[in-house]
Amino acid sequence: MKTYDVVIVGGGIIGGSIAFELAQRNLQVAVLDRQELMREASWAAAGMLSPAPDCPAAIPLVPLGLASLALYPRFIDAAEDASGLRTGFRTGGAIEVICHGEAERELSTLVALHRGLGLACEPLRLEEARSMEPALGREARAAALLPDECSIEPRALTSAVLGAAASAGVALCAGVEVTSFTLDGSKCVGVKTSKGELFQAAQVVLAAGSWSSQILEAAPYAPTIPVRGQMVALRHSGKPIRHVLRSESGYLVPRGLESPQTVVVGSTIENAGYEKRVTSGGIEKILSAANELAPELSNSEIVETWCGLRPGTPDQLPIIGPGDIDGLAFATGHYRNGILLAPVTAKLIGEWIVEGRTSFDWQAFSPLRFLKAKTNRSATASQTL
Ligand SMILES: Cc1cc2nc3c(=O)[nH]c(=O)nc-3n(C[C@H](O)[C@H](O)[C@H](O)COP(=O)(O)OP(=O)(O)OC[C@H]3O[C@@H](n4cnc5c(N)ncnc54)[C@H](O)[C@@H]3O)c2cc1C
Repeated sequence: MKTYDVVIVGGGIIGGSIAFELAQRNLQVAVLDRQELMREASWAAAGMLSPAPDCPAAIPLVPLGLASLALYPRFIDAAEDASGLRTGFRTGGAIEVICHGEAERELSTLVALHRGLGLACEPLRLEEARSMEPALGREARAAALLPDECSIEPRALTSAVLGAAASAGVALCAGVEVTSFTLDGSKCVGVKTSKGELFQAAQVVLAAGSWSSQILEAAPYAPTIPVRGQMVALRHSGKPIRHVLRSESGYLVPRGLESPQTVVVGSTIENAGYEKRVTSGGIEKILSAANELAPELSNSEIVETWCGLRPGTPDQLPIIGPGDIDGLAFATGHYRNGILLAPVTAKLIGEWIVEGRTSFDWQAFSPLRFLKAKTNRSATASQTL
């Protein structure tokens, strides 16, 4: 039996960032992953660091997203310094483009909504938007600059975070599948693996992304659902794109500023279970959104296609914090925002484990909300019988 202060189940960006945070707080940490670390959603992501809500359900997430974005420069410095690797972190903002509907009215709503949520948002005249991004297509009818948004290269970030965690003394254990938690009465004291091995720990953190709900004891607290996203990378030989470009149909995320430039294009939002498959329909949808945003991309070479499974939740909010089992904390369900939310998730879980308090009110993300919802549903059902 191996013993650590903290065992983290799942070696994606969430598990890796928490491990690095805890190791810097002098804890002995192991990260267990059933395969090679960082090969799932965290590897597949586009890398937009956008606290803007993409739907009304995501509005409660804005303060957490803003807090995490503010932590990013320090998070990146620490990971890059400790690992010696670069992460492709870029500031400079995103341009939100409206191509359909009543564009001017939608633009005013967008600007008002963002500003009301404390997000910087500046309407752009179309000539202004085109002078900032000459690749912008004729279909654009209105545009706004979100100047504070950033982007990162998720594969470079994940390598840096893993390298940093390893250099801080974290045990990174690939090929170790956790099948259950070890309980001593009402306390979690470790995990059991598919090979029957036991890892003992004062604290276990579940960060298994889309697969969190597959661990039986975790399912009531972490009912995660896989949401497939397909992606395409293009080699763009024209003038490099400088900003993230986003419309209601898709987005373009430029990597670097050299020509030819890699432009990552996404994405689909599909309920396809755990099936990771790139489809012709998915790619067609992504490319038509890309070509509408920047028509000259239709001449670009397709250099890669891939897909990943976002850890969705029933209310589209992440699951962060303790439940009602001592020694077990949750850090999962980050859906479309796990890259953005990694620094704040690591900070909050670190504070909770080491200091028993957090600097941010994380009640809205408590794993207990699903138990309460279930209890309320049962009560309503028995009243109507
Ligand atoms: C196409 C796409 C685009 C995205 N774009 C963005 C973006 O632009 N910005 C953004 O912020 N977010 C984005 N996301 C979301 C982001 O990628 C995820 O929210 C984030 O990566 C989740 O990280 P994670 O560590 O929780 O999960 P994962 O990276 O999926 O890691 C979970 C890990 O747990 C391991 N595991 C599972 N079960 C077990 C077990 N039983 N035992 C041991 N290990 C286990 C897995 O092998 C895996 O390594 C995107 C996602 C996708 C798919």
